[in-house]
Amino acid sequence: MNIVLLGPPGAGKGTQSKRLAERLGVPHISTGDLLRKNVTDGTELGREAKSYMDKGLLVPDDLVTRMLTNRFEQKDVRKGFILDGYPRNTAQAATLDGILSGPGLSIDMAVYLDTCEEVIVQRLSGRLVCSKCGANYHAVNMPPKKTMICDSCSAPLYQRADDKEETIRRRLEVYNKESAPVIDYYAEKGILSRLAADGEALAVLDKIIDLVRKNDDSVKVKK
Ligand code: AMP
Repeated sequence: MNIVLLGPPGAGKGTQSKRLAERLGVPHISTGDLLRKNVTDGTELGREAKSYMDKGLLVPDDLVTRMLTNRFEQKDVRKGFILDGYPRNTAQAATLDGILSGPGLSIDMAVYLDTCEEVIVQRLSGRLVCSKCGANYHAVNMPPKKTMICDSCSAPLYQRADDKEETIRRRLEVYNKESAPVIDYYAEKGILSRLAADGEALAVLDKIIDLVRKNDDSVKVKK
């Protein structure tokens, strides 16, 4: 199944996409992760993208689209995928349909994670990310066993540069202005499901899996 997760920063798209991808045995494609990898690797794309990302602004469409087109040329996406962080405006939504139509693919389901602003700011300001495997933690809600060390791979955790309170507010403004209309794009196609995502992460994942099963009862979900 080809699924896109929608919602404001801090709605839990990254956490839920990673877990959902594991349960469905399909790749997790995050444009934020791909961009951060380019920044860490010091590529030309990473150098261009960094100034936008640090300010909480969207990276220009052509840069992100080129990067995503390359990702969709890999064969693993044929068995399904979970897309996270793209599309972030209606132009990207139309571009995505074009990228997918090449190999004869399309989005089957868009899941909107509905979250209130207070929860978002609380989640993002405490978010910690593993510098090696990208696992997400929270300083209060989901702390690692050892302070600032990843439970899975023992690499150091860090706070994302754009998870500072001022940048969080900017990202929310950008989301409301540019990204929220993408919800209507998928509603009009009749493939949007909305769910309340303020609750505990595992409970939200169960709700997403229920929606996926309702959409396609033949889908195989790992324990
Ligand atoms: P995320 O990890 O999805 O929160 O993305 C982090 C940052 O990467 C965003 O604030 C943007 O600066 C940039 N970014 C990620 N995905 C996109 C996209 N589809 N279009 C433009 N910028 C993006």
